[in-house]
Amino acid sequence: MLEYEPVIGMECHAELLTESKMFCGCQNAFGGEPNTRCCPVCLGLPGALPVANRKAVEHVIRTALALNCTINRYARFDRKNYYYPDLPKGYQISEYDTPIGVRGWIDIEVNGEVRRVHIRRVHLEEDTGKLFHGMGNESYVDYNRAGVPLMEIVTDFPPDLHSAEEARTYLVKLRAILTYLDVCDGRMEQGSLRCEPNVSVRPKGSSTFGVKTEIKNLNSFRSVYRGIEYETQRQIEILRRGEQVVQETRGWNEERQQTFSQRSKEFEQEYRYFPDPDLLPLDIDEEWIAQIRATMPELPDERRNRFLRDYGLPPYDASFLTETRPLADYYEQVVRACGDAKQASNWVMGDLSRLLNADGKEIAECPVPPEHLAVMIQRIAEGTISGKIAKALLEEMYATGQPPDVLIEARGWTTIKDTATLSAMIDRVFAENADVVSAIREKGQLQKRGFLVGQVMKASQGKADPKEVNRLIDEKLNA
Ligand code: ADP
Ligand code: MG
Ligand code: ZN
Repeated sequence: MLEYEPVIGMECHAELLTESKMFCGCQNAFGGEPNTRCCPVCLGLPGALPVANRKAVEHVIRTALALNCTINRYARFDRKNYYYPDLPKGYQISEYDTPIGVRGWIDIEVNGEVRRVHIRRVHLEEDTGKLFHGMGNESYVDYNRAGVPLMEIVTDFPPDLHSAEEARTYLVKLRAILTYLDVCDGRMEQGSLRCEPNVSVRPKGSSTFGVKTEIKNLNSFRSVYRGIEYETQRQIEILRRGEQVVQETRGWNEERQQTFSQRSKEFEQEYRYFPDPDLLPLDIDEEWIAQIRATMPELPDERRNRFLRDYGLPPYDASFLTETRPLADYYEQVVRACGDAKQASNWVMGDLSRLLNADGKEIAECPVPPEHLAVMIQRIAEGTISGKIAKALLEEMYATGQPPDVLIEARGWTTIKDTATLSAMIDRVFAENADVVSAIREKGQLQKRGFLVGQVMKASQGKADPKEVNRLIDEKLNA
C-alpha cells in the first residue's frame, strides 16, 4: 500500500501585551463586562480615525528579530475587507505585502535532532470581537477584543514540518520565545495564542504538494497535535478511496476529537486588500531596530545553554525548566536560595509539577513560593526531615501556602535522632519480634535484619533517622 506523509504549515496569532488597543486608547485586557472597553475607533463608527500603537509595532519588530527575520523598513497597513458580525468596521486592518518581518527561522529539536523551521512572515493586525451563541436562536457579540493588537506568524513554503509532533514542538518553542520576549502571555486557553495548522498529505518521498485544509479553533498543544493527526488520517483515507481532498477551513470538535467542515476556502482576491488611507506607512529606521536589539532579553536557547553550563543539569532537565520564562525564573530562585541545582530541578520537575498539573495551575499561580521550596530542600540536606516526609510536607505547603518550618513543627515531622528515643523504639520492636531477633542472633539469618529496620521506621511513622536506626540495631544485635 502507498505510504503517505503529512506536510504542515503553521499560522499562529498572538495577542500582544500592550496597555491599549492597536489603533485607539481603549484598554487591552482579557474578559471583563462585555462591551465596556470600546470607542468609536474600535467600533468603526463613521469619522473615527485610527492611530497606530507604537508599543505593538515594537513588539512585532522584537519578535521578528528573535525569529531571525529581516525587517521591512517600510511597512504599510492594508485593509482586508470582509463582512462578519464580529468585525464592526467591515474590514480588518492588517499588513498585506509589506509585513514587518520576513524570511526568518527557528530551530527545534525532535528526537534529539535539530531541525530548522523557516518562517515566511511576521505581521501586525487587529483582533476581532467575540461571538456567543445562546441556547435558542439568539447570538451575542462582545467588542472588548475588537482592535486588540494581534501578531501573525506564518511558516514558510515549502513547509518544513512533517508530523504532528514536529508541529507541536514548533509551537512549544514559539510560545517560549514569545513569553520570554514578554510580547504575549501565551495563554492558549484564553485565546491569546491561537494556532491554525494547514495540513496536506503526499506520497512519502514525493516532492509534490497535495490539497491542504486549515484547522481552526485549536486552543491547546494537545488539540493541535490531535487535530493534525486526525486530519492527516482523514486525508489519507480520502486518497486511498481514490477521491480528492477539498480545500477548506475545518473546525475542531473537542468532545469528538474530530475536525469538521466549516466553510470552503476563500481566496486572497476576495478580500480586496488595499492600503488603509487613514494610516501612515511605518518608517522603521535603523536606530529604532538597534535600540530594540540592544534590549533583547535572554531567549530560551541561550537560557537552556546557560542552565547546562552553570548548573550542570542533564539536557532533559534544562529543556524542561526553560520551556517557559516563569518556570525558569522560579527554578533559578529556588537554586539561588538553596544552592543545590539538581535537587531543585528534581523537586520542581517532579512533585511540584505534578501538584500543579493535578490542580490545572501554571507556575505563576503556584501557592508555594520558591523560597519555601528552597528551605524544604535545605531541611532534607541537613537531615531535619527525610525525603519521604518531604513529599507529604510539599503537599501541605501546596495546600496551605505555609512555610515548611511552620508545618514541620506543627506536624512533629522532625527526624528523630535522639538515641534514647530510638533505643526505646528498637527495644519494643525487638520484644514484639523475638523470633526474628533470635533467628538473626542464633542462626545468623542476616537477611532478616532489614525487616527490623522497616518495623522501626514504621513505628516512627517514617520519622526515625535511618542511619541512626541502623547503627543502633547493629549495636543491639551484637550485644
Ligand atoms: P492561505 O492563504 O490559504 O492561508 P498561505 O499561502 O498563507 O495559505 O499558507 C498558509 C500556510 O500553509 C503556510 O505556512 C504555508 O507554507 C502552508 N502551506 C501552503 N501550501 C500548503 C500545502 N499544500 N500543504 C501544507 N501546507 C501548506
Ligand atoms: Mg490561512
Ligand atoms: Zn477603542
